[in-house]
Amino acid sequence: MTKVVIVGGGVVGLAVADELTRRGGLEVELLEKGPRPGIEASSAAAGILSPQGEADQPGPFLDLLLAGYQLFPEAVVRLQALTGIDMRYRAGGMLGVALSEEDEAQMERQAAWQERAGLRLERVAGSQVKSLEPAIDGPVRSAIWWPQTAQLDNTRLVEAYTRAVALQGAALRTGVPVSRFLVEGNRVVGVETPQGRIDADWVVNCAGPWAGFDRSLPFSIPTLPVKGQILQFRTDSPLVERVVKSPRAYLVQRSPQQLIVGTTVEDVGYDKEITGPGRRSILEGVGEMTSRLIGMRPETAWAGLRPGTPDRRPILGPSPLERLLLAAGHFRNGILLAPLTGRLIADWITTGGCPWDLSPFSVKRFSESKEVFHHGATQ
Ligand SMILES: Cc1cc2nc3c(=O)[nH]c(=O)nc-3n(C[C@H](O)[C@H](O)[C@H](O)COP(=O)(O)OP(=O)(O)OC[C@H]3O[C@@H](n4cnc5c(N)ncnc54)[C@H](O)[C@@H]3O)c2cc1C
Repeated sequence: MTKVVIVGGGVVGLAVADELTRRGGLEVELLEKGPRPGIEASSAAAGILSPQGEADQPGPFLDLLLAGYQLFPEAVVRLQALTGIDMRYRAGGMLGVALSEEDEAQMERQAAWQERAGLRLERVAGSQVKSLEPAIDGPVRSAIWWPQTAQLDNTRLVEAYTRAVALQGAALRTGVPVSRFLVEGNRVVGVETPQGRIDADWVVNCAGPWAGFDRSLPFSIPTLPVKGQILQFRTDSPLVERVVKSPRAYLVQRSPQQLIVGTTVEDVGYDKEITGPGRRSILEGVGEMTSRLIGMRPETAWAGLRPGTPDRRPILGPSPLERLLLAAGHFRNGILLAPLTGRLIADWITTGGCPWDLSPFSVKRFSESKEVFHHGATQ
């Protein structure tokens, strides 16, 4: 039987394992270095599924985000039926609010190219925002409504994937750090771990910001960690109905009692400390939008490491080595893109290709151009 080893048990590795085991006829082993799957960025995320909020121009990346979004409802229904886990998926849309002239100009540029591309959005007058979201009592000049945005509790998504993968027969091994890929000629034939060698017909690197861990490979995988901090408040009843964001912060009502506010975008290495300046910048950002959190203390706070790449696009598909596939660098969109990534990688393994042109996401692009790493807005 064809054996596939997946390195990394974040949401991306889990989604790949899910799709492969669903198709059947394969032996799938997922190796996670941590004590549980999904405890890194995949649990730290805010759970916003917003293709239009994340792209900055039409093109292959926008197409990928839109396809990922379209696939989500089906994945949620299937996972929920299989595992009984309610992931609190809600397609409630997103309200982007402009609080300054600069915000307005930035949002107008985004709205203009999206309208030209035929994407759905609505302009909302500042005076109307309070009737949509009564808690947003800051000086909103204007807003944009993106109906094509959903949210879910990504910690529950990780739980659902973990359960589904086990039910479908994958071997999920935690506490197993892969130290290197085993290469014979131009082909990857397995991985090395402190517990021994594991042979495989295919290996998929889903190691998030650590994806470049094997420096002995003949090419580099330039992923790097981009820290994001989040605060969670306890609310008696929901503060917001839909995702609300400004260019500096966002509010997501995860459950009637859990309000998540974020975030920071920090280039500080593999550090997940909650900091005073991080907390202050988030509180200032949400404080511009609502006065309701003034005087309230966050119930909890956490930080996670987004898997960044020099051009903020994922690295997907074949690598320069045969039988080594890459699914890393999902940056701010790994939750949104997980089900689609699982499908594309499984297509590649089971059919030798996939219906998408993955060349814009090939790791080869980094050896062909000299991109400068730059971060974008929040998420
Ligand atoms: C604050 C914050 C907010 C975010 N909000 C959103 C959002 O609203 N919507 C959205 O779509 N995305 C969001 N993201 C991004 C999203 O969380 C990530 O893109 C996604 O989780 C990446 O998943 P992953 O599986 O690639 O990486 P990870 O979750 O980092 O998982 C990689 C796994 O690989 C394991 N690993 C690494 N090296 C090895 C090795 N050598 N051997 C074995 N295992 C290894 C790690 O332990 C880890 O568990 C957010 C991220 C953060 C931090």
